[in-house]
Amino acid sequence: MASTQLAVVGGGPGGYAAAFLAADLGLSTTLIDNEINPGGVCVYRGCIPSKALLHVAKVLDEARHAAAWGVEFAEPKIDLAKLRQFKDGVVQRLTSGTGQLVKHRKVHYIQGLAEIVDPHTLKVKTAGGEETIAFEHAILATGSIPAMPRTLTVDDPRVMDSTAALDLPDVPASLLVVGGGYIGLELGSVYATLGSAVTVVEMTAGLLPGADRDLVDVLAKRVNRQMKAVLLNTSVAGLKAERQGIRVTFEGDGAKQKDQLFDRVLVSVGRRPNSRIPGLDSTRVKVDERGFIVVDEQLRTDEPSMFAIGDVVGEPMLAHKASHQGRVAVEVIAGENVAFHPRAIPAVVFTDPEIAWAGLTETQAKEAGRKIVVAKFPWGASGRAITLDRTDGLTKLILDQATEQILGVGLVGPGAGELIAEGVLAIEMGANATDLKLSIHPHPTLTETMMESAEVFFGQATHVYRPRR
Ligand code: NAD
Repeated sequence: MASTQLAVVGGGPGGYAAAFLAADLGLSTTLIDNEINPGGVCVYRGCIPSKALLHVAKVLDEARHAAAWGVEFAEPKIDLAKLRQFKDGVVQRLTSGTGQLVKHRKVHYIQGLAEIVDPHTLKVKTAGGEETIAFEHAILATGSIPAMPRTLTVDDPRVMDSTAALDLPDVPASLLVVGGGYIGLELGSVYATLGSAVTVVEMTAGLLPGADRDLVDVLAKRVNRQMKAVLLNTSVAGLKAERQGIRVTFEGDGAKQKDQLFDRVLVSVGRRPNSRIPGLDSTRVKVDERGFIVVDEQLRTDEPSMFAIGDVVGEPMLAHKASHQGRVAVEVIAGENVAFHPRAIPAVVFTDPEIAWAGLTETQAKEAGRKIVVAKFPWGASGRAITLDRTDGLTKLILDQATEQILGVGLVGPGAGELIAEGVLAIEMGANATDLKLSIHPHPTLTETMMESAEVFFGQATHVYRPRR
């Protein structure tokens, strides 16, 4: 029987970051995943392929908009096979890279499905048979899978989850997106740009329920133009596969619409943790009522040899949170006195405009009754935004009223996903409004909107005139 100091189950951005750091720290490490190379949902059928498609969609939108700048292109001809090839090539390139890194670091990589035998033994079913591994510690990084409520489960390929939608089987004339969250808006906008008439149904009163409304409002304006319809306070009561399409009945505000026929349906109503690991019940690892593995701030489960990280331990289900937790868990295993204590985990929705936030949102601050000041800088006053013809953006800081410390940052606009990193650093470093105001930002860039938001806080923004009251 082979033995290893650390076994990592699941090769997504959480699992492979953990395995690579463990190897760098000198631990003998085994990484187990069902794919040929590490990457997980994020790289194979999530973050990465969707971003490749969103990039193409952005180019199409910009090309169409260029008429307003005096440059006209003919209507694009879309070669779906080639577009798929581009997207698959992106995935191939990244995963062959992680495969190389496995070899360089001498991580023992096993392609197969892991089963827990006891708190120090794993069995892996591989194409060639079975391998048994004795381990000192294990990290469970098994991620999550799309949630498919029973009412939305139809055995018909025209009803898709995000994985099926990313395969781009065709560009349906009509597409229903169930769920106005991250996936629904990202993939819905790709299909809309490619030419589908997209209807979005969202159960709650607004898109992206976790984000501040002033940010979402900016995106919603564009989404409303881009999509055929956005039905809020609406859910789907039933789906029925018919020869002509999928017949959908709505419930809630959108129920006024009689049932409708769609060529395809994308179900994106959230993800659920993948904690059904065979043999887990033979350990002391606890799973809560929502299916999340219970861990402490050092990512330890109730079984002393086992740790868990990423989507399988809770929200937010984001790749960068998983990677960070993976590194913390490995450091704990290596004997360091560290814990997972972030002040800010950034969230980015890669629509156009992008929405990004980090730290405390305004809504959370108000709900918690915290004394805050919100300083907003509208992109209409940003030279860079004007040159991009994108003045619809907004940058805002959520500051502690007493200390002027930056508690949260919210952004909407093209490139918000890149800009938020400065906000994360500011929050993590405990920066206050003065720190941000005194940091010289390059001109003309969208990053200046961060600095000028701090100036707004002091009522002294160069490009925003606020007369003294
Ligand atoms: P989500 O939680 O972002 O959104 C689901 C939406 O569906 C919510 O707005 C919810 O109110 C709505 N909903 C739930 N049940 C419904 C119903 N029956 N009818 C209508 N609406 C309903 O989930 P998602 O979009 O499926 O994405 C899953 C997770 O994947 C995200 O939470 C995120 O963690 C991750 N993800 C992240 C990114 C990113 O970082 N850019 C992109 C895609 C996915």
